[in-house]
Amino acid sequence: MKIARFSHQGTINFGILDQNEAGGTDLVVLNGDPMYAGFDTTGERVPLADATLLAPVIPRSKVVAVGKNYRDHVAEMGGGEAPKEPLLFLKPNTSVIGPGDRIVRPRQSNRVDYEGELAIVIGSVAKNVAAADAASVIFGYTVANDVTARDLQKSDGQWARAKGFDTFCPLGPVIETEFDLAASTVETRLNGVLKQSAPLTDMIHGVAAIVEYASAVFTLLPGDVILTGTPAGIGSMESGDTVEVEISGIGVLANPFV
Ligand code: MG
Repeated sequence: MKIARFSHQGTINFGILDQNEAGGTDLVVLNGDPMYAGFDTTGERVPLADATLLAPVIPRSKVVAVGKNYRDHVAEMGGGEAPKEPLLFLKPNTSVIGPGDRIVRPRQSNRVDYEGELAIVIGSVAKNVAAADAASVIFGYTVANDVTARDLQKSDGQWARAKGFDTFCPLGPVIETEFDLAASTVETRLNGVLKQSAPLTDMIHGVAAIVEYASAVFTLLPGDVILTGTPAGIGSMESGDTVEVEISGIGVLANPFV
């Protein structure tokens, strides 16, 4: 099931994507946020084409992210050993934007990079969750762009600024609640040119291991999001560019850069 958060005629709602009789796609409008209110529908349908999609989740408290979780990306970042344990960092929830929203270069940076990533959406309070139980605290999955001020990442020595600017965490277009990671790939295109492409099974630390590791550190709240790392092919964006991150089975997250 694909869940969108959208605005239509001045109202924000959640909806389930559903094919209509004409072969197009509608949003079946839900009563409230399905993470808390379940999948009770209002009976209303809104054509997807008439809706503006928003970030499908606003992280309740934090975006947790994993660095250097694909071997080919570790190599392009200067090699060395891949981390034996997930390398965690945080992005503030104020960095989140939705599909189509502009990623804005901050005046402090001269090099802003895209990083296409799979995002885990947490669905219930999670602390010290064993890997075997990880699925029970996951609401679904969405697509993320872990936008990074690469120059500040190097000069600062830690990543709070480089990863944390407003607009540096595009999420969307939808949350897929029944996602088959093993059959899926992540691809990033800059102005239509393929830059990143990898099967999600190339992750060094998988989803269950990441949830176990992160929940042993932080209490994860419903609506918190975990970014799972980017494969090789990172690069910078220039004003006027459009970056698209696609995960097969979820959708395409497209954002302009200015
Ligand atoms: Mg990243």
